Amino acid sequence: MSDTTVLIVGGGFAGVACAQLLAKHDVDVIMLDRNNYHQFQPMLYQVATAQLAADDIARPLRGIFRHDKTVEVRHTAVTSIDLDARSVTTTLGSGLSADYLVTAVGAEANYFGTPGAAEHSLPLYSVNDAERLRTRILEVLDATIERPELIEMGALNFVIVGGGPTGVETAGALAEALRDAVPEGYQSLAQSAQVHLVDHGEVLLAPFSDKAHAYAAKRLQDDGVTLHLGVGVKEVFPDRVTLSDGDTIMTHAVIWGGGEKPADVIAAAGLPQGHGGRIEVEQDLTVADHPQVYVLGDAANIAGADGKTLPQLGSVAQQSGSLDRPQHPRRDRRQGTYAVRLQRQGHHGHDRPQRRRRRDGCASARGRWPGSVRGLAGRPRHAAQRRTEQDRRVHRLGLGLLQQERRDSDGRCT
Ligand SMILES: Cc1cc2nc3c(=O)[nH]c(=O)nc-3n(C[C@H](O)[C@H](O)[C@H](O)COP(=O)(O)OP(=O)(O)OC[C@H]3O[C@@H](n4cnc5c(N)ncnc54)[C@H](O)[C@@H]3O)c2cc1C
Repeated sequence: MSDTTVLIVGGGFAGVACAQLLAKHDVDVIMLDRNNYHQFQPMLYQVATAQLAADDIARPLRGIFRHDKTVEVRHTAVTSIDLDARSVTTTLGSGLSADYLVTAVGAEANYFGTPGAAEHSLPLYSVNDAERLRTRILEVLDATIERPELIEMGALNFVIVGGGPTGVETAGALAEALRDAVPEGYQSLAQSAQVHLVDHGEVLLAPFSDKAHAYAAKRLQDDGVTLHLGVGVKEVFPDRVTLSDGDTIMTHAVIWGGGEKPADVIAAAGLPQGHGGRIEVEQDLTVADHPQVYVLGDAANIAGADGKTLPQLGSVAQQSGSLDRPQHPRRDRRQGTYAVRLQRQGHHGHDRPQRRRRRDGCASARGRWPGSVRGLAGRPRHAAQRRTEQDRRVHRLGLGLLQQERRDSDGRCT
Protein backbone atom coordinates (compact mmCIF):
# COMPACT_ATOMS: atom_id res chain seq x y z
CA MET A 1 0.00 0.00 0.00
CA SER A 2 1.35 3.45 -0.94
CA ASP A 3 0.97 6.75 0.93
CA THR A 4 -0.49 8.34 -2.17
CA THR A 5 -4.01 7.93 -3.45
CA VAL A 6 -4.97 8.78 -6.99
CA LEU A 7 -8.58 9.33 -8.01
CA ILE A 8 -9.17 8.59 -11.69
CA VAL A 9 -12.46 9.70 -13.21
CA GLY A 10 -13.16 7.79 -16.41
CA GLY A 11 -12.25 4.25 -17.38
CA GLY A 12 -11.77 4.84 -21.09
CA PHE A 13 -8.51 4.52 -23.02
CA ALA A 14 -6.71 7.19 -21.02
CA GLY A 15 -8.02 6.31 -17.56
CA VAL A 16 -7.35 2.60 -17.93
CA ALA A 17 -3.82 3.17 -19.26
CA CYS A 18 -3.10 5.47 -16.34
CA ALA A 19 -4.49 3.07 -13.73
CA GLN A 20 -2.57 0.16 -15.23
CA LEU A 21 0.63 2.12 -15.06
CA LEU A 22 0.09 3.22 -11.48
CA ALA A 23 -0.87 -0.32 -10.48
CA LYS A 24 2.54 -1.50 -11.65
CA HIS A 25 4.01 0.90 -9.11
CA ASP A 26 1.60 -0.17 -6.36
CA VAL A 27 0.03 3.28 -6.13
CA ASP A 28 -3.47 3.22 -4.63
CA VAL A 29 -6.01 4.10 -7.27
CA ILE A 30 -9.73 4.66 -7.06
CA MET A 31 -11.28 4.54 -10.51
CA LEU A 32 -14.76 5.98 -11.01
CA ASP A 33 -16.85 5.44 -14.11
CA ARG A 34 -20.53 5.89 -14.82
CA ASN A 35 -20.39 2.52 -16.54
CA ASN A 36 -18.98 -0.60 -14.96
CA TYR A 37 -17.25 -1.43 -18.21
CA HIS A 38 -14.57 -0.07 -20.52
CA GLN A 39 -15.84 0.44 -24.04
CA PHE A 40 -13.95 0.24 -27.31
CA GLN A 41 -15.34 3.30 -29.07
CA PRO A 42 -13.81 2.64 -32.50
CA MET A 43 -16.21 -0.27 -32.93
CA LEU A 44 -19.40 1.44 -31.81
CA TYR A 45 -20.70 1.82 -35.32
CA GLN A 46 -20.45 -1.93 -35.77
CA VAL A 47 -22.73 -2.42 -32.77
CA ALA A 48 -25.07 0.24 -34.12
CA THR A 49 -25.35 -1.61 -37.42
CA ALA A 50 -25.78 -5.03 -35.79
CA GLN A 51 -22.46 -6.36 -37.00
CA LEU A 52 -21.24 -6.90 -33.44
CA ALA A 53 -22.92 -7.51 -30.12
CA ALA A 54 -22.44 -4.88 -27.43
CA ASP A 55 -20.50 -7.21 -25.17
CA ASP A 56 -17.95 -7.74 -27.93
CA ILE A 57 -16.68 -4.21 -27.42
CA ALA A 58 -17.21 -3.74 -23.68
CA ARG A 59 -15.04 -5.22 -20.93
CA PRO A 60 -15.88 -5.06 -17.24
CA LEU A 61 -13.53 -2.62 -15.51
CA ARG A 62 -13.36 -4.87 -12.46
CA GLY A 63 -12.21 -7.67 -14.75
CA ILE A 64 -9.45 -5.53 -16.25
CA PHE A 65 -8.06 -4.79 -12.78
CA ARG A 66 -8.81 -8.11 -11.11
CA HIS A 67 -5.11 -8.79 -10.52
CA ASP A 68 -4.29 -5.24 -9.45
CA LYS A 69 -4.92 -5.16 -5.74
CA THR A 70 -4.23 -1.41 -5.49
CA VAL A 71 -6.93 -0.46 -7.99
CA GLU A 72 -10.46 -0.10 -6.67
CA VAL A 73 -13.22 0.33 -9.26
CA ARG A 74 -16.36 2.22 -8.26
CA HIS A 75 -19.41 2.35 -10.51
CA THR A 76 -20.79 5.87 -10.23
CA ALA A 77 -21.16 9.02 -12.27
CA VAL A 78 -19.24 12.10 -11.18
CA THR A 79 -21.48 15.14 -11.03
CA SER A 80 -18.98 17.85 -10.11
CA ILE A 81 -15.28 18.39 -9.61
CA ASP A 82 -13.58 20.64 -7.06
CA LEU A 83 -10.10 21.30 -8.39
CA ASP A 84 -8.76 23.01 -5.26
CA ALA A 85 -9.87 20.20 -2.97
CA ARG A 86 -9.06 17.50 -5.58
CA SER A 87 -12.44 16.04 -4.82
CA VAL A 88 -15.52 14.96 -6.72
CA THR A 89 -19.18 14.49 -5.93
CA THR A 90 -20.92 11.45 -7.33
CA THR A 91 -24.39 10.07 -7.90
CA LEU A 92 -23.77 7.75 -4.98
CA GLY A 93 -24.19 10.88 -2.93
CA SER A 94 -20.76 10.80 -1.34
CA GLY A 95 -17.76 13.01 -1.97
CA LEU A 96 -14.34 11.54 -2.69
CA SER A 97 -10.95 13.20 -2.58
CA ALA A 98 -7.37 12.09 -3.13
CA ASP A 99 -3.80 13.33 -3.28
CA TYR A 100 -4.02 13.45 -7.06
CA LEU A 101 -7.05 13.87 -9.27
CA VAL A 102 -6.90 12.50 -12.80
CA THR A 103 -9.84 13.26 -15.08
CA ALA A 104 -10.16 11.24 -18.26
CA VAL A 105 -13.83 11.66 -19.06
CA GLY A 106 -13.60 11.75 -22.86
CA ALA A 107 -15.80 13.67 -25.25
CA GLU A 108 -19.46 13.95 -26.09
CA ALA A 109 -21.49 15.26 -28.99
CA ASN A 110 -21.30 18.97 -29.73
CA TYR A 111 -24.47 20.15 -31.45
CA PHE A 112 -23.15 23.69 -31.91
CA GLY A 113 -26.54 25.04 -30.89
CA THR A 114 -28.32 23.43 -33.85
CA PRO A 115 -32.01 23.61 -32.92
CA GLY A 116 -33.56 20.21 -32.30
CA ALA A 117 -30.29 18.31 -32.65
CA ALA A 118 -29.92 17.33 -29.00
CA GLU A 119 -33.57 16.26 -28.80
CA HIS A 120 -34.00 14.43 -32.09
CA SER A 121 -30.65 13.08 -33.23
CA LEU A 122 -28.66 10.11 -32.05
CA PRO A 123 -25.00 10.53 -31.07
CA LEU A 124 -22.53 7.66 -31.11
CA TYR A 125 -20.23 7.85 -28.10
CA SER A 126 -21.18 4.91 -25.93
CA VAL A 127 -22.46 1.38 -26.05
CA ASN A 128 -25.83 2.75 -24.95
CA ASP A 129 -25.81 5.18 -27.86
CA ALA A 130 -24.96 2.37 -30.27
CA GLU A 131 -27.74 0.15 -28.95
CA ARG A 132 -30.20 3.03 -29.09
CA LEU A 133 -29.29 3.63 -32.71
CA ARG A 134 -29.58 -0.05 -33.60
CA THR A 135 -32.98 -0.17 -31.93
CA ARG A 136 -34.11 2.93 -33.83
CA ILE A 137 -33.03 1.42 -37.15
CA LEU A 138 -34.92 -1.80 -36.44
CA GLU A 139 -37.98 0.09 -35.15
CA VAL A 140 -38.10 2.13 -38.33
CA LEU A 141 -37.82 -0.98 -40.49
CA ASP A 142 -40.49 -2.83 -38.53
CA ALA A 143 -42.84 0.14 -38.55
CA THR A 144 -42.46 0.49 -42.30
CA ILE A 145 -43.38 -3.16 -42.88
CA GLU A 146 -46.61 -2.54 -40.98
CA ARG A 147 -47.30 0.85 -42.55
CA PRO A 148 -45.73 1.09 -46.02
CA GLU A 149 -47.04 4.65 -46.33
CA LEU A 150 -44.25 5.67 -43.93
CA ILE A 151 -41.78 5.25 -46.80
CA GLU A 152 -43.33 8.30 -48.48
CA MET A 153 -42.81 10.13 -45.18
CA GLY A 154 -39.07 9.45 -45.27
CA ALA A 155 -38.97 6.63 -42.72
CA LEU A 156 -36.31 4.81 -44.69
CA ASN A 157 -34.04 7.83 -45.07
CA PHE A 158 -31.13 7.70 -42.64
CA VAL A 159 -29.33 11.00 -42.25
CA ILE A 160 -25.79 11.17 -40.93
CA VAL A 161 -24.50 14.57 -39.91
CA GLY A 162 -20.75 15.02 -40.24
CA GLY A 163 -18.26 13.90 -42.85
CA GLY A 164 -15.43 13.15 -40.45
CA PRO A 165 -14.24 9.65 -39.58
CA THR A 166 -17.27 8.83 -37.42
CA GLY A 167 -19.78 9.99 -40.02
CA VAL A 168 -17.98 8.32 -42.91
CA GLU A 169 -17.59 5.02 -41.08
CA THR A 170 -21.17 5.01 -39.92
CA ALA A 171 -22.53 5.92 -43.35
CA GLY A 172 -20.53 3.14 -44.98
CA ALA A 173 -21.50 0.55 -42.39
CA LEU A 174 -25.15 1.52 -42.55
CA ALA A 175 -25.31 1.56 -46.34
CA GLU A 176 -23.69 -1.84 -46.43
CA ALA A 177 -25.94 -3.27 -43.74
CA LEU A 178 -29.02 -1.96 -45.53
CA ARG A 179 -27.84 -3.46 -48.77
CA ASP A 180 -26.49 -6.79 -47.55
CA ALA A 181 -28.07 -7.65 -44.23
CA VAL A 182 -31.46 -5.95 -44.20
CA PRO A 183 -32.84 -7.82 -47.22
CA GLU A 184 -32.64 -11.06 -45.22
CA GLY A 185 -35.43 -9.92 -42.91
CA TYR A 186 -36.98 -6.99 -44.72
CA GLN A 187 -36.86 -7.95 -48.40
CA SER A 188 -39.49 -5.46 -49.45
CA LEU A 189 -37.66 -2.49 -47.92
CA ALA A 190 -34.14 -2.82 -49.23
CA GLN A 191 -34.77 -0.88 -52.44
CA SER A 192 -36.32 2.06 -50.63
CA ALA A 193 -33.73 2.60 -47.89
CA GLN A 194 -31.40 5.53 -48.45
CA VAL A 195 -28.43 6.87 -46.50
CA HIS A 196 -27.68 10.61 -46.67
CA LEU A 197 -24.49 12.19 -45.35
CA VAL A 198 -24.48 15.94 -44.72
CA ASP A 199 -21.40 18.07 -44.06
CA HIS A 200 -20.87 21.79 -44.32
CA GLY A 201 -17.36 21.22 -45.67
CA GLU A 202 -16.71 20.59 -49.34
CA VAL A 203 -14.90 17.28 -48.78
CA LEU A 204 -15.16 14.18 -46.62
CA LEU A 205 -12.46 13.33 -44.08
CA ALA A 206 -11.19 16.90 -44.19
CA PRO A 207 -7.98 16.33 -42.17
CA PHE A 208 -6.86 13.58 -44.55
CA SER A 209 -5.17 13.77 -47.94
CA ASP A 210 -6.92 14.81 -51.16
CA LYS A 211 -6.70 11.20 -52.26
CA ALA A 212 -8.58 10.10 -49.15
CA HIS A 213 -11.27 12.76 -49.70
CA ALA A 214 -11.90 11.53 -53.21
CA TYR A 215 -11.65 7.87 -52.32
CA ALA A 216 -14.07 8.08 -49.40
CA ALA A 217 -16.58 10.01 -51.51
CA LYS A 218 -16.39 7.52 -54.34
CA ARG A 219 -16.71 4.49 -52.10
CA LEU A 220 -19.69 5.89 -50.28
CA GLN A 221 -21.39 6.88 -53.52
CA ASP A 222 -20.68 3.44 -54.95
CA ASP A 223 -22.43 2.04 -51.89
CA GLY A 224 -25.43 4.22 -52.64
CA VAL A 225 -24.88 6.99 -50.07
CA THR A 226 -26.15 10.43 -51.15
CA LEU A 227 -23.64 13.13 -50.21
CA HIS A 228 -24.77 16.64 -49.33
CA LEU A 229 -21.48 18.54 -49.11
CA GLY A 230 -21.07 22.27 -48.60
CA VAL A 231 -24.38 22.48 -46.71
CA GLY A 232 -25.07 22.55 -43.00
CA VAL A 233 -27.95 21.16 -40.99
CA LYS A 234 -30.15 24.07 -40.00
CA GLU A 235 -32.63 22.28 -37.75
CA VAL A 236 -33.54 18.75 -36.72
CA PHE A 237 -37.19 17.73 -36.29
CA PRO A 238 -38.62 14.35 -35.28
CA ASP A 239 -39.53 13.64 -38.92
CA ARG A 240 -37.06 15.71 -40.98
CA VAL A 241 -33.94 17.84 -41.15
CA THR A 242 -33.73 21.18 -42.86
CA LEU A 243 -30.50 22.20 -44.60
CA SER A 244 -28.81 25.55 -45.03
CA ASP A 245 -29.45 25.49 -48.81
CA GLY A 246 -33.21 25.35 -48.21
CA ASP A 247 -33.59 21.60 -48.82
CA THR A 248 -35.46 19.28 -46.48
CA ILE A 249 -34.76 15.59 -45.99
CA MET A 250 -37.63 13.61 -44.52
CA THR A 251 -36.23 11.12 -41.99
CA HIS A 252 -36.97 9.33 -38.75
CA ALA A 253 -33.33 8.64 -37.86
CA VAL A 254 -30.63 11.33 -37.67
CA ILE A 255 -27.19 10.23 -36.52
CA TRP A 256 -25.02 12.99 -35.14
CA GLY A 257 -21.30 12.79 -35.91
CA GLY A 258 -21.01 16.52 -36.44
CA GLY A 259 -18.55 17.48 -33.74
CA GLU A 260 -17.55 16.88 -30.17
CA LYS A 261 -16.64 18.67 -26.96
CA PRO A 262 -15.25 17.56 -23.60
CA ALA A 263 -17.67 15.75 -21.32
CA ASP A 264 -19.85 18.12 -19.32
CA VAL A 265 -18.37 17.38 -15.93
CA ILE A 266 -14.89 18.62 -16.84
CA ALA A 267 -16.17 21.42 -19.08
CA ALA A 268 -18.03 22.79 -16.06
CA ALA A 269 -14.94 22.78 -13.84
CA GLY A 270 -14.04 26.33 -14.81
CA LEU A 271 -10.79 25.55 -16.60
CA PRO A 272 -9.52 27.41 -19.68
CA GLN A 273 -10.70 25.75 -22.87
CA GLY A 274 -9.01 25.73 -26.25
CA HIS A 275 -9.87 24.42 -29.69
CA GLY A 276 -13.18 22.50 -29.71
CA GLY A 277 -13.66 23.36 -26.05
CA ARG A 278 -10.87 20.97 -25.06
CA ILE A 279 -9.29 21.73 -21.69
CA GLU A 280 -5.96 23.52 -21.85
CA VAL A 281 -3.24 21.48 -20.17
CA GLU A 282 0.41 22.06 -19.37
CA GLN A 283 3.20 20.03 -20.93
CA ASP A 284 2.88 17.45 -18.17
CA LEU A 285 -0.92 17.29 -18.62
CA THR A 286 -1.66 19.03 -15.33
CA VAL A 287 -3.93 22.07 -15.39
CA ALA A 288 -2.91 25.63 -14.60
CA ASP A 289 -2.33 26.33 -10.89
CA HIS A 290 -3.24 22.76 -9.94
CA PRO A 291 -0.10 20.64 -10.14
CA GLN A 292 -1.91 17.65 -8.70
CA VAL A 293 -4.81 17.68 -11.14
CA TYR A 294 -4.43 16.05 -14.55
CA VAL A 295 -6.68 16.05 -17.61
CA LEU A 296 -6.06 13.24 -20.08
CA GLY A 297 -7.34 11.91 -23.39
CA ASP A 298 -10.00 13.41 -25.63
CA ALA A 299 -11.01 16.02 -23.07
CA ALA A 300 -7.56 17.64 -23.10
CA ASN A 301 -6.00 19.98 -25.62
CA ILE A 302 -2.70 18.11 -25.80
CA ALA A 303 0.16 19.50 -27.83
CA GLY A 304 2.54 17.16 -29.63
CA ALA A 305 6.29 17.66 -29.87
CA ASP A 306 5.75 20.15 -32.71
CA GLY A 307 3.36 22.20 -30.58
CA LYS A 308 0.33 21.26 -32.69
CA THR A 309 -2.81 19.92 -31.03
CA LEU A 310 -2.94 16.14 -31.20
CA PRO A 311 -6.03 14.51 -32.70
CA GLN A 312 -8.65 12.80 -30.55
CA LEU A 313 -7.57 9.23 -31.12
CA GLY A 314 -7.42 6.12 -28.98
CA SER A 315 -3.64 5.91 -29.28
CA VAL A 316 -3.19 9.52 -28.16
CA ALA A 317 -5.52 8.96 -25.20
CA GLN A 318 -3.66 5.82 -24.15
CA GLN A 319 -0.32 7.56 -24.38
CA SER A 320 -1.58 10.50 -22.39
CA GLY A 321 -2.24 8.06 -19.57
CA SER A 322 1.04 6.27 -19.74
CA LEU A 323 3.77 7.86 -21.78
CA ASP A 324 6.11 10.77 -21.51
CA ARG A 325 4.70 12.73 -24.40
CA PRO A 326 1.84 11.70 -26.63
CA GLN A 327 3.12 11.44 -30.17
CA HIS A 328 1.48 12.66 -33.28
CA PRO A 329 0.31 9.42 -34.87
CA ARG A 330 2.15 8.84 -38.11
CA ARG A 331 -0.05 9.66 -41.04
CA ASP A 332 -0.14 6.08 -42.24
CA ARG A 333 -0.96 4.80 -38.79
CA ARG A 334 -3.83 7.22 -38.49
CA GLN A 335 -5.09 6.16 -41.85
CA GLY A 336 -4.76 2.64 -40.56
CA THR A 337 -7.44 3.42 -38.06
CA TYR A 338 -9.86 5.15 -40.32
CA ALA A 339 -9.32 5.52 -44.00
CA VAL A 340 -7.56 2.29 -44.77
CA ARG A 341 -10.61 0.52 -43.44
CA LEU A 342 -12.45 1.99 -46.33
CA GLN A 343 -9.95 0.54 -48.72
CA ARG A 344 -9.73 -2.93 -47.31
CA GLN A 345 -11.55 -5.62 -49.16
CA GLY A 346 -12.22 -8.73 -47.19
CA HIS A 347 -11.54 -9.55 -43.59
CA HIS A 348 -8.08 -8.80 -42.26
CA GLY A 349 -8.54 -8.66 -38.54
CA HIS A 350 -8.01 -11.63 -36.31
CA ASP A 351 -9.45 -10.04 -33.26
CA ARG A 352 -12.01 -11.70 -31.06
CA PRO A 353 -15.04 -9.64 -32.09
CA GLN A 354 -14.63 -10.47 -35.76
CA ARG A 355 -14.26 -14.17 -35.05
CA ARG A 356 -17.29 -14.19 -32.81
CA ARG A 357 -19.31 -12.33 -35.37
CA ARG A 358 -18.70 -15.05 -37.92
CA ARG A 359 -19.28 -17.82 -35.45
CA ASP A 360 -22.60 -16.37 -34.36
CA GLY A 361 -23.61 -15.78 -37.93
CA CYS A 362 -24.54 -12.19 -37.06
CA ALA A 363 -25.67 -9.84 -39.77
CA SER A 364 -22.26 -9.47 -41.31
CA ALA A 365 -21.72 -6.99 -44.06
CA ARG A 366 -19.14 -9.31 -45.61
CA GLY A 367 -16.42 -7.76 -43.51
CA ARG A 368 -15.77 -4.96 -45.93
CA TRP A 369 -15.73 -2.38 -43.17
CA PRO A 370 -13.86 -4.54 -40.80
CA GLY A 371 -12.39 -2.25 -38.19
CA SER A 372 -9.85 -3.98 -36.09
CA VAL A 373 -8.34 -3.75 -32.67
CA ARG A 374 -5.08 -4.13 -34.48
CA GLY A 375 -5.84 -1.10 -36.59
CA LEU A 376 -5.76 1.01 -33.47
CA ALA A 377 -2.46 -0.42 -32.35
CA GLY A 378 -0.85 0.05 -35.75
CA ARG A 379 1.26 -2.61 -37.41
CA PRO A 380 2.64 -5.38 -35.23
CA ARG A 381 6.15 -4.49 -34.14
CA HIS A 382 9.15 -6.73 -33.76
CA ALA A 383 9.99 -7.69 -30.20
CA ALA A 384 13.28 -5.79 -30.32
CA GLN A 385 11.57 -2.65 -31.52
CA ARG A 386 8.97 -3.01 -28.78
CA ARG A 387 11.72 -3.31 -26.18
CA THR A 388 13.48 -0.19 -27.43
CA GLU A 389 10.24 1.75 -27.33
CA GLN A 390 9.63 0.60 -23.81
CA ASP A 391 13.15 1.60 -22.80
CA ARG A 392 12.56 5.04 -24.20
CA ARG A 393 9.38 5.49 -22.26
CA VAL A 394 9.41 7.97 -19.46
CA HIS A 395 6.17 7.41 -17.70
CA ARG A 396 5.42 11.01 -17.20
CA LEU A 397 2.27 10.81 -15.21
CA GLY A 398 3.13 7.68 -13.28
CA LEU A 399 6.69 8.60 -12.50
CA GLY A 400 5.68 12.18 -11.81
CA LEU A 401 3.41 10.93 -9.08
CA LEU A 402 6.00 8.54 -7.74
CA GLN A 403 8.65 11.24 -7.64
CA GLN A 404 6.25 13.54 -5.88
CA GLU A 405 5.57 10.80 -3.37
CA ARG A 406 9.26 10.42 -2.65
CA ARG A 407 9.68 14.17 -2.54
CA ASP A 408 6.92 14.31 0.04
CA SER A 409 8.45 11.61 2.19
CA ASP A 410 12.05 12.74 2.28
CA GLY A 411 11.83 16.32 1.12
CA ARG A 412 13.68 15.92 -2.16
CA CYS A 413 13.04 14.37 -5.45
CA THR A 414 14.96 11.17 -6.12
C1 LIG B 1 -17.65 6.35 -33.09
C2 LIG B 1 -16.17 6.56 -32.80
C3 LIG B 1 -15.21 5.92 -33.59
C4 LIG B 1 -13.85 6.11 -33.31
N1 LIG B 1 -12.94 5.45 -34.09
C5 LIG B 1 -11.62 5.58 -33.79
C6 LIG B 1 -10.63 4.86 -34.51
O1 LIG B 1 -10.95 4.13 -35.45
N2 LIG B 1 -9.33 5.00 -34.13
C7 LIG B 1 -8.95 5.80 -33.09
O2 LIG B 1 -7.77 5.88 -32.78
N3 LIG B 1 -9.85 6.49 -32.39
C8 LIG B 1 -11.17 6.39 -32.71
N4 LIG B 1 -12.09 7.09 -31.98
C9 LIG B 1 -11.62 8.00 -30.91
C10 LIG B 1 -11.28 7.24 -29.62
O3 LIG B 1 -12.30 6.33 -29.31
C11 LIG B 1 -11.11 8.27 -28.50
O4 LIG B 1 -10.04 9.11 -28.86
C12 LIG B 1 -10.80 7.62 -27.16
O5 LIG B 1 -11.85 6.78 -26.77
C13 LIG B 1 -10.60 8.70 -26.08
O6 LIG B 1 -10.28 8.09 -24.88
P1 LIG B 1 -10.60 8.80 -23.49
O7 LIG B 1 -10.09 7.89 -22.42
O8 LIG B 1 -10.15 10.19 -23.51
O9 LIG B 1 -12.20 8.86 -23.44
P2 LIG B 1 -13.26 7.68 -23.49
O10 LIG B 1 -12.72 6.47 -24.12
O11 LIG B 1 -14.48 8.31 -24.07
O12 LIG B 1 -13.52 7.36 -21.96
C14 LIG B 1 -14.16 8.27 -21.10
C15 LIG B 1 -14.69 7.51 -19.92
O13 LIG B 1 -15.17 8.44 -18.97
C16 LIG B 1 -16.41 8.01 -18.45
N5 LIG B 1 -17.14 9.19 -17.98
C17 LIG B 1 -17.48 10.29 -18.70
N6 LIG B 1 -18.13 11.17 -17.92
C18 LIG B 1 -18.18 10.63 -16.68
C19 LIG B 1 -18.74 11.05 -15.45
N7 LIG B 1 -19.36 12.22 -15.32
N8 LIG B 1 -18.62 10.24 -14.37
C20 LIG B 1 -17.99 9.04 -14.48
N9 LIG B 1 -17.46 8.58 -15.63
C21 LIG B 1 -17.55 9.38 -16.70
C22 LIG B 1 -17.09 7.33 -19.64
O14 LIG B 1 -18.07 6.41 -19.20
C23 LIG B 1 -15.89 6.62 -20.29
O15 LIG B 1 -15.70 5.33 -19.78
C24 LIG B 1 -13.45 6.94 -32.24
C25 LIG B 1 -14.43 7.57 -31.45
C26 LIG B 1 -15.77 7.39 -31.72
C27 LIG B 1 -16.80 8.07 -30.86
